[in-house]
Amino acid sequence: MEHPLSIYNTLTRKKEQFIPLHEPHVGMYVCGPTVYGDAHLGHARPAITFDLLFRYLTHIGYKVRYVRNITDVGHLEHDADEGEDKIAKKARLEQLEPMEVVQFYLNRYHKAMDALNVLPPSIEPHASGHIIEQIELVKKILDNGYAYESEGSVYFDVEKYNKDHNYGVLSGRNIEDMLNTTRALDGQDEKHNPIDFALWKCAQPEHIMRWPSPWSNGFPGWHCECTAMGKKYLGQHFDIHGGGMDLIFPHHECEIAQAVASQGEDMVHYWMHNNMITVNGQKMGKSLGNFITLDEFFTGDHKMLSQAYSAMTIRFFILQAHYRSTVDFSNEALQAAEKGLSRLMDAYNHLQKLTASDASTVDVKDLRRKCYDALNDDLNSPIVISHLFDAARAINSVKDGNATISAEDLKELQDVFHTFIFDILGMRDEASAGGNNYETFGKAVDLLLTIRQQAKANKDWATSDKIRNELTAMGFDIKDTKDGAEWKLSK
Ligand code: ZN
Repeated sequence: MEHPLSIYNTLTRKKEQFIPLHEPHVGMYVCGPTVYGDAHLGHARPAITFDLLFRYLTHIGYKVRYVRNITDVGHLEHDADEGEDKIAKKARLEQLEPMEVVQFYLNRYHKAMDALNVLPPSIEPHASGHIIEQIELVKKILDNGYAYESEGSVYFDVEKYNKDHNYGVLSGRNIEDMLNTTRALDGQDEKHNPIDFALWKCAQPEHIMRWPSPWSNGFPGWHCECTAMGKKYLGQHFDIHGGGMDLIFPHHECEIAQAVASQGEDMVHYWMHNNMITVNGQKMGKSLGNFITLDEFFTGDHKMLSQAYSAMTIRFFILQAHYRSTVDFSNEALQAAEKGLSRLMDAYNHLQKLTASDASTVDVKDLRRKCYDALNDDLNSPIVISHLFDAARAINSVKDGNATISAEDLKELQDVFHTFIFDILGMRDEASAGGNNYETFGKAVDLLLTIRQQAKANKDWATSDKIRNELTAMGFDIKDTKDGAEWKLSK
């Protein structure tokens, strides 16, 4: 590939050059949501981080198969292994079918992802649709001697596995420390050891989500789904597995153990994790009362929000931090992101109207290379954005008549801006247009305004007023300038 990409591999704890197993194909698996509630800011971050990676890999020429799963069974309340199933609990409380809960929140999740301009993955498999594959995985691990059956459930034998392999290789934990800190919860007497994790759980009589298996009527342990579905859709060995840092332990550690115990080696070549979002320095969580859903951001309807924030403001806010740094939510930080984004979008819009001169006094030659260099350095989106801000300053000085730009440089700048802002960073221009069709939409409004200019020149005031009044009634702000008119969608 023309662009050598380096990414930080959580497993080796260093930046590595990205070399796919089967160029130009790339297999990428990202742990998706457990759909029992509305998506919040914490869901936006992995979705946007891996959307950036998906867009960038595609942009530089790879053919990416991106799998993002839907967890709709087996995610229990306590560390995924004990307590009630999160979806079954919601279904019980709301007197719904568990799959009604899943569908309801999944539809809402998709809407929120669309608003954030997160591209849909290539495949979005449901855990409940892959029970057979998960049972096969559990059988393999049992056959290889790394699991045991107890009271109709099957548990992974962590100590036995650790004698032959290394449990803790991803998280850097060791089992002695884990043994000292693992608390025995109800039902753990079934386990030989409190650090063992469930591969299959026998369903209690009141448990509604259950399937037949060789061991009991029950349901798979949470960690099984990603190992089984990753293998099914991406093969025994694939390139990238991603998710939030909070999934490193136990979820991804257990996935590695399951893969090694079933097929002798891990499936994944590069493990990637995005950092967390904090709220005023604290972890975001339902119990902490600082939990803000994406819809609440979009409407401003939450006591911690001083205003509504558009989906693109949220996206820009997240991309302004490197994915491995923490992001702290505050109204001030989001307002700054909103301002920054509109500065960039204004510059983009001015850029379309600049007139070229014979020579440039602004230097835009290296912009494209600098942006690629930043992304190739472990997806450094904040550096890309800072280069674009530098370019925005150059655009403004040309616009204000303090600098000039040649036709060739102008074309290059327009192309670089478009490529990085829209195609790779995945922004949409919300102010001058709505949705994906901003360009076509904008051109149509420009055309109406040109017709209005001609009507004015012909002293056809009826036509000129009609266009102006009707656009205003539709929600456009029309401002007359000395050589035409500018427009904006009013809020
Ligand atoms: Zn997963």
